[in-house]
Amino acid sequence: MAASLAPRFRLSRVGSQTCRCFFVLGLAGESAANHIALSRLQPSRMLRVTESGLYCDLGDFFVDPWRPVHRAVVTHAHSDHLTWGCGNYLVTDRGLGVTRERLGAWSDRAEGMPFGEVRQINGVGVSFHPAGHILGSAQVRLEHRGEVWVASGDYKTDPDPTCDAWEPVRCHTFITESTFGLPIYRWPAPRAVFDGINAWWRENAAAGRASMLLGYGLGKAQRLIAGLDPSIGPILLHGAVDRMTALYRQAGVALPPTEYSRAARGAATGAMVVAPPSVDGSAWARKFGAHSTAFASGWMLVRGARRRRNVDRGFTLSDHVDWPQLLQAIDATGAQRVLVTHGFTGPVVRWLREQGLSADALATRYEGERDDAPDATADAAPAVASRDGEGVVDGDGDRDGDAEAGAA
Ligand SMILES: [Zn+2]
Repeated sequence: MAASLAPRFRLSRVGSQTCRCFFVLGLAGESAANHIALSRLQPSRMLRVTESGLYCDLGDFFVDPWRPVHRAVVTHAHSDHLTWGCGNYLVTDRGLGVTRERLGAWSDRAEGMPFGEVRQINGVGVSFHPAGHILGSAQVRLEHRGEVWVASGDYKTDPDPTCDAWEPVRCHTFITESTFGLPIYRWPAPRAVFDGINAWWRENAAAGRASMLLGYGLGKAQRLIAGLDPSIGPILLHGAVDRMTALYRQAGVALPPTEYSRAARGAATGAMVVAPPSVDGSAWARKFGAHSTAFASGWMLVRGARRRRNVDRGFTLSDHVDWPQLLQAIDATGAQRVLVTHGFTGPVVRWLREQGLSADALATRYEGERDDAPDATADAAPAVASRDGEGVVDGDGDRDGDAEAGAA
């Protein structure tokens, strides 16, 4: 990876000493005329952090605001990127269903736009490009007078049959997350992880136990379901997972047969139960009798995180890029300027600068994959329900564990 990055980064380092718009110098295929045009711009003004979120002065809109604003362009429906109460929301049409579900009373303010289509907002060309994170998740590309920024939200490059695959978007400035931005984070192959999950399920079924697999209700849960082998037994879903899974199917995502857990509680022996992390140890979980519990998260790579969770098994599966994927993704954008948000910003910025790239931390309020952060209970429903004094109760009276769907 370092070898592939080095040549262009060396070029940008030369440029940084000579030109204010140095970050365009290393872009393959850029003409000299284009460099001159870009040098007249104020490149740092396309997006900036305000109290309400990432703001585009030129277009007068926000990207993934964390407070209610008049116009929001939203990368995906996790609650740290999708805030309630905005005047209107522009999202991908693939993500419109889950976005509307999460918006509740504000659902009619959301508008969908296909991947790749360009919408002019006050002279700024806005388009969505797949981020590979969850259903409908997008990178937002902004173009103004030839200058291109990409705000990538959360993203991953590992294969995931439940969403459109991440695509590199050439840009001058790339805003990237850094949730797992340390060299220790390297994901095992997803196929091997799913083989392990199915083997664990098979063992439990043979021993007459149910299996309870915990993962965020929006995105992670559906990815888990897609990898399960339905020949082992029935797949039962918590209410919050069931609701989101139905929206995935409506969007055309193929998933194995599942049942809403309430209807099948008496037949849980040997079943796989997929539920949000907030149910762990709850009265709801105890209704399934003897069962083995596993947790699926990128944090499961670290033994301490697994111990804190106190589950029987941990499976390393994340909807974010690991360290090599992060560097490869940045490289693929061709960006010579990288703004690093939520996660291990310091190490990532330092590493990029050591390669000669222009890199800075961007202080946002996004949370990445917080499902096994030290405050592991933060994903429980009341934490989000209390945000606006409103909770969501699902069909069988369970507090909406998917309020946790906040950040997976
Ligand atoms: Zn997310």
